[in-house]
Amino acid sequence: MRIDIFTLFPEWFGWFFQQRHLTNAIQAGSLQVRLFNYRDYTPLKHGQVDDTPSGGGAGMVIRVDVVCAALEAVYGTDCSTLREQRPVYVLSPRGRRLDEEMVCELAELEELTLLSGRYEGIDARVSEHIATGEISIGDYVLSGGELPAMVVMDAVARRLPGALGSEESARWESFSAETGGAPEHPQYTRPAEFRGWKVPEVLLSGNHAEIERWRRENRG
Ligand code: SAM
Repeated sequence: MRIDIFTLFPEWFGWFFQQRHLTNAIQAGSLQVRLFNYRDYTPLKHGQVDDTPSGGGAGMVIRVDVVCAALEAVYGTDCSTLREQRPVYVLSPRGRRLDEEMVCELAELEELTLLSGRYEGIDARVSEHIATGEISIGDYVLSGGELPAMVVMDAVARRLPGALGSEESARWESFSAETGGAPEHPQYTRPAEFRGWKVPEVLLSGNHAEIERWRRENRG
């Protein structure tokens, strides 16, 4: 899968791209990531990328012509027909809320473009005429789409072959089909007792059928 991220702050991703499950997926050939800065493609003078909101008000809005120019330069195609060729999502608090179902849908894609906003956001004509849809990572407002892009990528990348040490751990996770869509059971490890706080006895019993039953009963 190839993920392209458009942002005004590509430097935010430096640390993230060094993290193990991403480098694993990249080395395994299941993930490719590219970063593009809108500013590098702006047709406006002095690197301008934003403008004041139509109708007035505080802040600045990333311009549609700037986003379009960046997409056309990278993909070599008219931005108004881009969504017929590839999935393009704007990161926005107004978008469809990211959940495991959506993560699975995204992980099936060969290519994914994420448009990260800043300031008051991206001119709505990008969502209306260029993008496939909008993704929100929750009902709160962050200062930019960089962290949401990383959240999407993190959740998607761990579903790709080679990302995690064990394919099993990706399958048996909260919200997976294996847990019936519920959060998984609580996890414990050694020591079996710490300050009087004990690991449930059944988990130390070695009785796999009982352990499985306990885990099933303690989901959600
Ligand atoms: N004025 C916008 C509003 O009230 O909805 C907030 C814009 S926010 C400060 C700037 C950018 O951060 C957005 O364009 C979006 O890309 C990103 N962003 C902030 N919160 C987000 C969220 N919950 N989900 C996805 N993206 C978010």
